[in-house]
Amino acid sequence: MELDNHAEDLASDLGIDKEEVKADLQNLVEYSVPVDEAKQSLRRKYGDGSSGGGGTPSAKDIGEITPDDSNVTVTGVVLTTGKRSIRYQGDDHVIVEGRLADETGVIDYTAWEDFGLSPGDTITAGNAGVREWDGKPELNLGESTSLSFESDSLEVPYEAGGDAQLADLQTGDRAVTIEVTVVECERRTIDGRDGETEILSGVLGDESGRLPFTNWDPAPEIEEGGTVRIENAYVQEFRGVPEVNVSEFSTVTSLEREIDVGADATTMTLGEAVATGGIYDLEVVGNLIAVRDGSGLIQRCPECYRVIQKGQCRTHGDVDGIDDLRVKAILDDGTGSVTVVLDDELTEEVYDGTLEDALEQAREAMDQEVVADTIREHVVGREYRVRGHLSVDEYGANLDAESFEESDDDPETRASAFLDSVADLEEVRS
Ligand SMILES: [Zn+2]
Repeated sequence: MELDNHAEDLASDLGIDKEEVKADLQNLVEYSVPVDEAKQSLRRKYGDGSSGGGGTPSAKDIGEITPDDSNVTVTGVVLTTGKRSIRYQGDDHVIVEGRLADETGVIDYTAWEDFGLSPGDTITAGNAGVREWDGKPELNLGESTSLSFESDSLEVPYEAGGDAQLADLQTGDRAVTIEVTVVECERRTIDGRDGETEILSGVLGDESGRLPFTNWDPAPEIEEGGTVRIENAYVQEFRGVPEVNVSEFSTVTSLEREIDVGADATTMTLGEAVATGGIYDLEVVGNLIAVRDGSGLIQRCPECYRVIQKGQCRTHGDVDGIDDLRVKAILDDGTGSVTVVLDDELTEEVYDGTLEDALEQAREAMDQEVVADTIREHVVGREYRVRGHLSVDEYGANLDAESFEESDDDPETRASAFLDSVADLEEVRS
């Protein structure tokens, strides 16, 4: 096994126990740290001979820490602590993640042991490891870290606790506290890592917006229409958009107060939206510049519901396809572009006909491409206001439309409004 060799390497270089270093290595790799980076950080953790191993690194302000630091000693206030379970070697392992602050800045940390940290604690972490994550430094508090609680609390310009609004949450956020209305909720059975298990999934909302959620250990307080306070949730990407994860370590309590769910979607330019990497509820305006292949009348596999070509599903082979309608169209606003995906209902609207009409038209023309051509004639060159879920991956940016309307301030309307106002002016003058 590969990890075994890496562990062997490290153990002999550093003169430490192989099993110990292997467990550490596995931990980091399981935590998505690339193996080379993991080895480097373990070399730092155990001191690769040059540092002599024993000395405590000098104290540093949080704002001064860079990914080039190997080990630091920091004093700061624990802003958040969130437990999360990760799995390695078939065992569940609980880690604590959160943010630490001093007067100069804030840094994310991961504690590989339970030091008993609570928000508001002022701590000094001696010999904390530094690793790079997404170009930024993060602290690793582990076995070799000496951690002490300070009796004099440090004043910092940041609030302890993870209170957040849904609109501000981003993939990677940990130890989040939210107060929300459960907008949608369904109970599902999934094939989890421990076999079949029940989970809740749906949509949460607050004044700022909406986000999907998964509750891995169904909390009775989470039910459709209810309002709840959720402490210690984390945010992870799922199908390209941020999702609130409510775990066994989260605390869910029912609230008496009502929470209005904001009706507004996030609005931004396409360039900005694509740069975020995914937004659950987005509204954009752009010009529809093309209808892509695979639009109009299509056939889906009856087993997996994926689109098939010439009666062939890539997974299920020769199948009797189900006829369906959809549109994949390119929307551009000058700052960027996305592929807008319209479902059967929205496609019927832009086609101005039903699935039966489309089948009829294709039969008459003996070519199902005529349906896509009709849709092209209806939509290309017009400006649309689209609301939906944006996901971004290596294949591009897809906006799954929930609503798709011709923009009321399209150039034509703007032009005629301008002409009207000119006419009004002339009337006033005459
Ligand atoms: Zn299939």
